[in-house]
Amino acid sequence: MLSADFLNLGRDIEMVNNSEADWFHLDVMDGRFVPNISYGMSIIAQMKKMAKKTMDVHLMILEPEKYFEEFKKAGADILTVHYEASTHLHRNLQAIKALGMKAGVSLNPHTPVHLLEDVIADIDLVLIMSVNPGFGGQKFIQQAMQKITKVKSMITAAGSNTLIEVDGGVTLENAGALVAAGADALVAGNTVFSSPDPVDTIKKLKQAGK
Ligand code: ZN
Repeated sequence: MLSADFLNLGRDIEMVNNSEADWFHLDVMDGRFVPNISYGMSIIAQMKKMAKKTMDVHLMILEPEKYFEEFKKAGADILTVHYEASTHLHRNLQAIKALGMKAGVSLNPHTPVHLLEDVIADIDLVLIMSVNPGFGGQKFIQQAMQKITKVKSMITAAGSNTLIEVDGGVTLENAGALVAAGADALVAGNTVFSSPDPVDTIKKLKQAGK
C-alpha cells in the first residue's frame, strides 16, 4: 500500500478488496532503520476498518518489540521484523506469536539466509528484500533469486511450513521466475498502482505465478 494514492486511500483499499490479491502489505518506516518515514499504527487501524483481507505488516523500524501490541491492536495479522533490527530475534518471534499474529523475519539484500538456520522452524514467513528497504519503485536485485532458492531448501530440510515473500522490484516480467524459485507471496506495490488497470495487473501477476 506504500504506492497507493493516500488522497484516495478508500478507493484503493476497495480495489484490493475486489481484486485477486490475497493480502494487504503495509510498510512501516521509522526514518532510523531506513532513510524514509511512511505511516504507523493509526493509519493501519483506519485501513483495517475497510480492508477485507489479511493485514501483512512489514516493520522497517528499530526496536520493533516496543510496538508489537500496538500493531496487534491496529489489526496486523502477520507482523514481520527485520533480522538486522532484532538483537533478540527468537524472543521477538515468540512475542509476536503470543499476541496471536503470524511472525515474519525480513532480510536486507546483504544479509545471508543461513543466519536463519537455527530459527527457521519458528518463523511463519521469511521476507526477502529484493531492493534496499526505504522506498517503493526500485529495481530488483538479481541476487535475491538465489536467496529464495536457499531459504526454500532450508525450509524443506526443516520440514517447516514457513512461507517465502519477496518485496521490491517485483514485475510482471519476473513474477513467474520468483514463484518458480520458491516464492509464495509477492509484494508488487509499484507494479500494481502505477498500472492503468490495477485489478487486471494483479490478475496477471497471479497468472504469472501459476
Ligand atoms: Zn514491505
